[in-house]
Amino acid sequence: METWEKLQMLAGEADLDRDAGEAAPPLCARTLPISWATAKGRRMPILKALLTSACERNCAYCPFRAGRDSRRQTFRPAELASQIGLLTRRGVIEGVLLSSGIAGGSVSTQDRLLETAAILRRQGYQGYLHLKLMPGAEREQILEALRLADRVSVNLEAPGARFLHRLAPQKRFWGELLQTLARAANLRRLPPQPYGRSRWPSLVTQFVVGAAGESDRDLLAWTARLLNEYGLQRVYYSTFRPIPATPLENLPPEHRRRGQRLYRAFFLLRDYGFTTEELLPPGGQALPADDPKLWWAEQHLRARPVEINTAPREMLLRVPGIGPQRAAALLHARRETTFRTLAQLQALGIPAKAAPFILLDGRRPLHQGRLWH
Ligand code: SF4
Repeated sequence: METWEKLQMLAGEADLDRDAGEAAPPLCARTLPISWATAKGRRMPILKALLTSACERNCAYCPFRAGRDSRRQTFRPAELASQIGLLTRRGVIEGVLLSSGIAGGSVSTQDRLLETAAILRRQGYQGYLHLKLMPGAEREQILEALRLADRVSVNLEAPGARFLHRLAPQKRFWGELLQTLARAANLRRLPPQPYGRSRWPSLVTQFVVGAAGESDRDLLAWTARLLNEYGLQRVYYSTFRPIPATPLENLPPEHRRRGQRLYRAFFLLRDYGFTTEELLPPGGQALPADDPKLWWAEQHLRARPVEINTAPREMLLRVPGIGPQRAAALLHARRETTFRTLAQLQALGIPAKAAPFILLDGRRPLHQGRLWH
């Protein structure tokens, strides 16, 4: 099989563009499943590339699981690095997410991923590089990944061993996944300069949502722990979609809205000072609303609105419509201005939904709602 065809297959659900008689498809984004992702502070086209779609494990949700009847392809590290370099030089991609099925053990697979990344960097590749850490990767391998990548990830898949067992019976939550993530987190606490970096790459993980019976509370409790104890930058929530010919093929897909709610809750945990308990009803297992911040404000700020002119940053961030940037703008403007009208807030980009939860110089602004528009 030609290298180009392998790349199409290994890059995921490619929308192949093979006209009859076309011997060599042109290198263009049309023939590859390019994703757009935010990296290094901006949106860029990224190729999700697998070194191999052969895997010796049997995760119940995965199209590459062992024993599933599907065509497998494998790249040699130099071969894949060469394709990525070519796509980068032609301006098709600006970044790559490098992952792999596990073949010949995690350590050996990680070595091949590292070799691919090292070849890329030696060849002068300066694009964005997200490198997957295999379950049970060794300390020196993780360190090498941290030297080479802009982002590294260990996918925990489930919030705890009980749920993981339903999804991936051969993966060990504590001994493989969390241990690898903890090793990466510990290495990131070292000063990066002795290892040739001005700063370490970010560390992220992913949960599969909706296939193991896990609740929002389970997911958010682990999210908070990963943020606070392991210093993760992002947690991704991949809503479950059944894959034919897998043990979970008859399970219904998870609704996208659940994933969106979890992402909103994630940012409230990471950037707004909320705790898991604050985002859920007492004893509740599911996020109660699509907008968890608005739900919290309805419970707490309707009766006790926030005085915009004197509230500290952490209270401003609790107001719907006020995020870190708008809070900073408010704090800056407050040095010289007393806010008395909604129009003044509107000038800072603060939307109408903040009005029921604030005071402006001691007065509720609800009666000024007309002016907002
Ligand atoms: S280890 Fe990865 S590639 Fe292999 S079956 Fe599990 S999720 Fe799929």
